[in-house]
Amino acid sequence: MFNIYEDKLSNHTTFKIGGLAKIFQPRNLDELKQFLIDNKKNYFVLGNGSNILAGNYIRPIIIKTNLLDKIYKKGNIVCVESGVNLFRLIKFCADNGLSGLEALYGIPSSVGGAIYMNAGSFGTEIGQFVTSVDYLDSNGILHKKIKPKFSYRNSFFTNKNCVITMVRLKLLKDTPDNICKKCEYYFNLKKAKQPYNYPSAGSVFKRVGDVGAPIFIEKAGLKGLKIGGAMISDKHCGFVINVNNAKFNDVKQIICKIKKTVLKKFGIILTREIVVIGDKNGDNW
Ligand SMILES: Cc1cc2nc3c(=O)[nH]c(=O)nc-3n(C[C@H](O)[C@H](O)[C@H](O)COP(=O)(O)OP(=O)(O)OC[C@H]3O[C@@H](n4cnc5c(N)ncnc54)[C@H](O)[C@@H]3O)c2cc1C
Repeated sequence: MFNIYEDKLSNHTTFKIGGLAKIFQPRNLDELKQFLIDNKKNYFVLGNGSNILAGNYIRPIIIKTNLLDKIYKKGNIVCVESGVNLFRLIKFCADNGLSGLEALYGIPSSVGGAIYMNAGSFGTEIGQFVTSVDYLDSNGILHKKIKPKFSYRNSFFTNKNCVITMVRLKLLKDTPDNICKKCEYYFNLKKAKQPYNYPSAGSVFKRVGDVGAPIFIEKAGLKGLKIGGAMISDKHCGFVINVNNAKFNDVKQIICKIKKTVLKKFGIILTREIVVIGDKNGDNW
């Protein structure tokens, strides 16, 4: 039968926060399809858990995609299953002299999560390279080779109840050596600017027009604010970091405090980028 087990989501999220959940790791598409037919809408898809704040009230079954891990190329098109992580995808591209994704090197994402969120960095977004995507809807029906629309941290898939399974990316030719150098360059920039040494879920808020949320957070004097085990990073105040065994509510309180203060001081409503699951009171905050 299905490979379902119980574990704390803190073991599956980069924030290292999250209560007990039932986790299903499909080993192939057929298994995933059958699961969706049997379970219909009672699921939540987890990629690498790098954009997730998880509470303790997790009701849906978590579909963890990491075993969907095939990757191959046809000319300059890379075909990659959604559970592959971006590090592996970009290394594969480098080995094969395929360039374009280097600025994303260092984002701790799965391919599926990157497509869902349209992950981006230093002016590059994954959506720019996508030629088509396959996904399974919640009735287990496979939609093949669709050409999704993307915008800033948003895609055709955002808030849609489906599982991205396969992605095709059209890339450019370059030498493996050049590609590796670019990856290293961008990853070093990231590590210099972002608190990679603490558990987090990346930037908590989306940009406001062209202005990054950290500008408002810093001007509001919130840099370094600590609640329980969570803290607004003083290296990059768009990140909330888990400095000491932070609880879901510590992070929630910090996020609410930021939103309230920025609204009061600047009249700006910040929108969350991170996805919240498992809050008994819902995620509308
Ligand atoms: C240190 C750090 C640095 C970061 N830097 C960046 C950055 O530079 N740029 C950036 O854009 N983001 C960044 N992030 C945020 C995060 O890595 C991205 O949002 C990433 O794309 C999320 O991918 P994931 O696989 O971890 O998805 P998850 O966090 O597991 O899920 C995110 C959302 O995608 C959905 N999802 C995941 N996989 C699938 C699938 N196969 N089918 C359907 N839906 C799916 C989930 O249901 C959820 O709604 C950073 C995070 C950290 C911790």
